[in-house]
Amino acid sequence: MRTATLDSRLVLVFPDGAVDVEKASNGLFSSDSQAVFDRWAEFRDWTQSAAATGHERITVEERKLGAPAPRPRQVFGVGLNYADHVSESGAPVPERPAVFTKYPTSLTGPYDTIALPSALVDWEVELVAVIGREAYQVAVSDAWQYVAGLTLGQDLSERAIQLQGPVPQFSLGKSFPGFSPTGPVLVTPDEFDNPDDLALGCAIDGETMQDSRTSQMIFSVSQQIAWISSICPLLPGDVIFTGTPAGVGGARDPRRFLAPGEELRSWIDGIGELRNPLIAAPSYPEGPQAV
Ligand code: ZN
Repeated sequence: MRTATLDSRLVLVFPDGAVDVEKASNGLFSSDSQAVFDRWAEFRDWTQSAAATGHERITVEERKLGAPAPRPRQVFGVGLNYADHVSESGAPVPERPAVFTKYPTSLTGPYDTIALPSALVDWEVELVAVIGREAYQVAVSDAWQYVAGLTLGQDLSERAIQLQGPVPQFSLGKSFPGFSPTGPVLVTPDEFDNPDDLALGCAIDGETMQDSRTSQMIFSVSQQIAWISSICPLLPGDVIFTGTPAGVGGARDPRRFLAPGEELRSWIDGIGELRNPLIAAPSYPEGPQAV
């Protein structure tokens, strides 16, 4: 099953178009694509019944798609989670998932334009997991049962803010507006032959920058959920950015960062692609100044 946020409304996505959930369910489920995660099991049951079929199809216009989980209560990111990216970063291999947050105000849609606050914004293509039921202290072997679905994201990162100072500022450096595009759809785990092995990558104006598989993760989606939930309860609709493979701009020689006028395209097997045009924010290229 595939869901999306189309024109700010929850829809089911089929090969021949989308179905408006509120209308098709006669109001049993609302149009709120975030609220549905609080009733995810009930929603899955409804979609698998005849009630979800035979309804009017809506054309899916790309520019009207928003983030599939637009207002999560918590957004987690996992750093240094592919061996080749750890190696290019010059960091030691983590013994546990390296977890940070991205604030929910950084979320944006799959085809939205993103304003670059400085000349040091880097790309990080990532598989993104959305939680479908409260998860607290779950075992690795049970973790997939807590996942509503998978989507695609970019963990955009302003490297100066992220890495400067006496301690790194991952959460702020990765939370400028637009720094968390996700989409274009949310796909339930049963749709994949192997949800732990998906090809993913990204390109700038057609030039490939990252090209890998999620099977190369150091900590799998299940291990990430087990670790985070050993400390923080994961809530329905929470979002986890699961790490990026090698090929980021800050690790290149010479370094390369995103520039206004470029288009960042990202892809992942079985979910689709993001295409985000880039423009300059008023603070470009220097970035936010000390206050
Ligand atoms: Zn990342």
